[in-house]
Amino acid sequence: MSRPLLATIDISALRHNLTVAKRCAPQSKAWAVVKANAYGHGLARGMRGFADADGLALIEIEGAVRLREWGWQKPILLLEGVFELADMQVVAEYGLDIAVHCDDQIRMLEESRPAKPIDVHIKLNTGMNRLGFKPDVIRAVYERLRAIPGIGQIGMMTHFANAEDADNPGMPLAEQVARFSRATEGLAGPRSLSNSAGTLMHPEVQAIADWIRPGIMLYGATPGARSAEQFDLRPAMSLTSRIIGVQHITAGDAVGYGSRFTASGPMTAGVVACGYADGYPRHAPSGTPVLVNGVRTRLLGTVSMDMISVDLTGIPGAGIGSEVTLWGEGLPIDEVANAAGTVGYELMCALAQRVRVVER
Ligand code: PLP
Repeated sequence: MSRPLLATIDISALRHNLTVAKRCAPQSKAWAVVKANAYGHGLARGMRGFADADGLALIEIEGAVRLREWGWQKPILLLEGVFELADMQVVAEYGLDIAVHCDDQIRMLEESRPAKPIDVHIKLNTGMNRLGFKPDVIRAVYERLRAIPGIGQIGMMTHFANAEDADNPGMPLAEQVARFSRATEGLAGPRSLSNSAGTLMHPEVQAIADWIRPGIMLYGATPGARSAEQFDLRPAMSLTSRIIGVQHITAGDAVGYGSRFTASGPMTAGVVACGYADGYPRHAPSGTPVLVNGVRTRLLGTVSMDMISVDLTGIPGAGIGSEVTLWGEGLPIDEVANAAGTVGYELMCALAQRVRVVER
């Protein structure tokens, strides 16, 4: 008998969500972002689910090598580029594209004299102030890269700080687009700008882009206020478990560590085999939604390492063995994340190794 906690990955949902991205940007090619173990879904599953993508993008060079060994022949882009000279040989040998965001990486390219041409993508800092060159040096960077023997195609990319909240006065999306357009005007090479929110909510960006780089939407979640369902996205990960214990409690009884939930009347609390050591958010408060036998109910009290308690009061037939959905089909991960003060990205990526994963 194994613990009933299970993450089910729906490969057809991955496939479907990619078609949604392509529908949003029909003229563009799509890098499917599969960093962080395909956002917790498994890199190999990502590769299969996104077989129709034009390329895969990730951070981890070891993952990129694995993708090639598993037979992925289309482009692979390393989003943070490379970190040391030795990486450059791997990049050339496995035919990887790299983002280039700082002088150090250009120096490495100059020193490495790669045996095979390397395609590079200049990363512009158009206002997020994370990685990238400032717009005013892009032409110089472009020329410097062009002069290196062994450099193939030179692309240009940037990343949005607020695609899901485009009018954010901290850095409006339109300003980033304008800076990108001005800085890259007349330079030959593929351009990519949009993440999921850009792809879903800003079709106007496609006019200056050749590629999109969707991540979270491909897994069936959204970065913004609108629900995944509104965008026709399907959850690719469902985390399910079962009730393994039941407590009948009365008014004044408290549940769990810290006694942070107190019953106001008679009720039934069910114990679910799933806790923060499985990736369930430790800070989810009482009231966070959960499904039991398909009925929406709520979390009670503090999340433990291996268990949570949920309210079974009034749910027909609920008891030991009842099926529980922590997130996924029937309960959007964004809702659970929202209640826990985090984002769907974090919940997916934090899925623990001890959770059994099955495919469907
Ligand atoms: N492009 C880059 C450079 C990223 O860092 C990410 C993820 O953070 C993405 C694309 C995909 O973003 P999202 O998952 O919001 O679609």
